[in-house]
Amino acid sequence: MNIVLIGNPNSGKTTLFNSLTGKNEHVGNWSGVTIKEKKASIKSSFNKEATIIDLPGAYSIRPFTSEESVTTEFIKQSTPDVIINVIDSTNLERSLFFTTQILELNIPVIIALNKMDILKDDIDILKLERLLKCKVVNISAMKEKGIDTLIESAFYIRGKKQENPFVDVLKIDNINNQDKERFKRVSDLVNKVCKKEIKENEETLQDKIDNYITNPFIGVPIFIIIMSLVFNLSINTLGPLIADNLVLFIENAQFGLSDLLSKYGVNDFLNALLTDGIVGGVGAIVGFVPLVMILMFFLSLIEDSGFMARIALIFDPLFRKIGLSGKSIIPMVVGYGCSIPGIMSTRTIKDERQKRLTIILTPFIPCGAKVPIIALFTSVFFPENPFLFPIVYLIAFSVIISVGLLLKKVMGVDNIDNYFILELPEYKIPSIKRAFFRMIETAKDFIQKAGTIILVCNTLIFIMASFDFSFNLVNDNVDSSILATIAKPFSILLIPVGIGTWQLAASAITGFIAKEEVVATLSTVYAMSSAIGEEFQLLDAVVAKDAMGITSLCALSFMFFNLFTPPCFAAIGAMKSEMKSKKILKKAILLQIWVGYTFSMLVYQIGSILVYKKLGDGFLFSLIILLLSVLFIVKKIKVYKFNKKEELKEIKVG
Ligand code: GDP
Repeated sequence: MNIVLIGNPNSGKTTLFNSLTGKNEHVGNWSGVTIKEKKASIKSSFNKEATIIDLPGAYSIRPFTSEESVTTEFIKQSTPDVIINVIDSTNLERSLFFTTQILELNIPVIIALNKMDILKDDIDILKLERLLKCKVVNISAMKEKGIDTLIESAFYIRGKKQENPFVDVLKIDNINNQDKERFKRVSDLVNKVCKKEIKENEETLQDKIDNYITNPFIGVPIFIIIMSLVFNLSINTLGPLIADNLVLFIENAQFGLSDLLSKYGVNDFLNALLTDGIVGGVGAIVGFVPLVMILMFFLSLIEDSGFMARIALIFDPLFRKIGLSGKSIIPMVVGYGCSIPGIMSTRTIKDERQKRLTIILTPFIPCGAKVPIIALFTSVFFPENPFLFPIVYLIAFSVIISVGLLLKKVMGVDNIDNYFILELPEYKIPSIKRAFFRMIETAKDFIQKAGTIILVCNTLIFIMASFDFSFNLVNDNVDSSILATIAKPFSILLIPVGIGTWQLAASAITGFIAKEEVVATLSTVYAMSSAIGEEFQLLDAVVAKDAMGITSLCALSFMFFNLFTPPCFAAIGAMKSEMKSKKILKKAILLQIWVGYTFSMLVYQIGSILVYKKLGDGFLFSLIILLLSVLFIVKKIKVYKFNKKEELKEIKVG
C-alpha cells in the first residue's frame, strides 16, 4: 500500500516521515528542504506493510513554484492508496485551504493534525471530521504521539470512497472566485471548530524575544559571538583533541605499514605509494573529519533552535538591495553544509533571474569540504588569531553582497516584489539526536569520499608526481615529473595571485574534482618534494609551514582562491541542472573564476605593498587584469543603461 504525505511547508511532514519509517532525513525550518519525493517502508514495529512517500511542501494544488508542480504531478500520476494530509494545527486556517483541494482528488484522505504538543487552541475534532467528511487524527510527529492510530486509520479507509464537501466550489467558473470562496469556507469552518484560548503571556514572550533578536544591531553581534564560539570549539578546542589522536593513529599506521612492506622486500616505489600516497593522502583529509563533524553538530543545533531563521530575516532587507528576495538566504544557509542541496533549494524561487543569481552566489559560502582548507591555512599560518575562521565566513558573505551589487549594476536585476514568507518557527530546545545524526551523516559523506574519489585521485597524483613522461622514476627531481610538467603552465597564470608554484597549482586544480582534494594533494606533493626521510604532518604547523615554504600572505591568497573560484564538479552539475541554460552556466563559471582570481590577486598584491612594502610578483600583469576588468564592467553598465533608455523610449512612443 502506498501512503503519501502532503501538506504545507513546515507542517512537519519530514518529521512524520522519520517517525513512520525510522529514517533520519534532514528536518529544517526552511521551505525547500524537501525538494524531491522521498520513499521508504514503514517501520516493522507497526506490523503492517506500507510505503511512505514524502512529497515537497506546497500551498496549493495549482503549480505556483516548481516545488508545487512536483507535488501536483506526483499525486496525479501515481494515484496513491491513501493521502495523509499533514496540517500544522497551530496554523489551521492556512493549511485547510490546501485540504479543500486535496479532497477533490477522489483518493481517501486522512488529516493528521500535527504539533498537538504546542497547540494552545481547542479544536473540536469530531465537528471537523463531520464538516470535512474525512477522518482526522491528532498527532505530534515530534513526540511520536498518535502515530499508531494514524496508520491504523490509513489501513481502515483504504479503498473507501472519498466524499468532497466542497464540490459546489468547483462549479464557480472563475478560478480566482473559486479561491475566494475556498478562503471564505475555510474561515467559517475554522470559526466553527476552533475555540481560541488566548494565553497572552505565552504568546508575547516569544514576540518580545523576537523584537530584540530580529533587530540587526542586536541579532548580528549575537550571531557573530555564537559563531565564533562554535568555530573555536570545533577548530581550536574540541576538534583537535580528537583529531590529534586520529592523526597520530594514521601516522603510526603509515610507519607500521612502511616497516612491514620493507620487511617483505616490497620495492620502494610501491611502498611509498601505499604509505605516503594512499594512507598519507587519504589520512590528511580523514584527520579533519572530527573538526567538520563537531562544526556540523553545533550548526545543526543552532538551526534547530529557531535562531537561524531570525538571522535570515535580518538579512532580508540587505538581500532586497541587491535585487534578491529573502528566499535567497535559504540556499546559502543550506549551502554551509554542501552547495549542492543549497543550489537545489533555489527551486523555491519563482523569478528565474533571482533564481539564477542565487545559484551563482550560493557556492561562495564555504561548504563543509572547504572547512579543511580554512582550518589548515588559518591554524598553520595564523595560529595567534582565533577569530580568523569566523571572519572568513563574514568575508564570504561580503563577497556575495558585492558580487550581487555588481551584477545588479551590470544586468539590472529589477526589484521584483516577491513577498517572502519565512515563517518564524517557535524557539525550542534543539534536538541533540538530530544534530548527532547530521554529524554522523557528514562524517559518512567525508569518509565515503576519502575511500573513493580521494583515494583514486591521490593514487593518480602520486604516480604522476613520481614518473616523468617517459615513465622513469623521477626520484629527487620532482620538478620533471608528469604532474609538475602539467601544472607548471597553470602556475604561471597564478603568479599574480602569489601562488605560482606547480604544487599549489596542482592542488587547486584537483580541488575542482572535490574540495577535500586540495588538502589531500598538498600533503602528497609536499611529502615528496621535501627531503627524503623527513615526515610531513599536516597538523604540525611548523613542519607544514616549512614544507610549503610560502609566506602567510600567499597562504591567505591561496585559501581565498580555493574558496571563491568555482565549486567542485558535482556542484557545477547541480548548477547546470537548475539553470537549464548552458550559456548562462558558462557565464556563471567564468564569473566565479574571475571573482576567485581577482579577489585573491588583490589580497596578495595589496598585502605585498602594505605588509612587505614592495610590489608583489606579477604586479604589472595584475594591473592589466584589473584595468581590463574595470573597462569591461564600465562598458557593460553603459550598454545596460543604453538599452534601458531605448526601452523607455519605446514605451513612451508606444
Ligand atoms: P516539513 O517542511 O513539512 O517537512 O516540516 P519539518 O518536518 O521539516 O518540520 C518543520 C518544523 O516543525 C521543524 O522545526 C520540526 O522540528 C517542527 N515539528 C514537526 N513536528 C512537530 C511536532 O509534532 N511538534 C512540534 N512542537 N514541532 C514539530
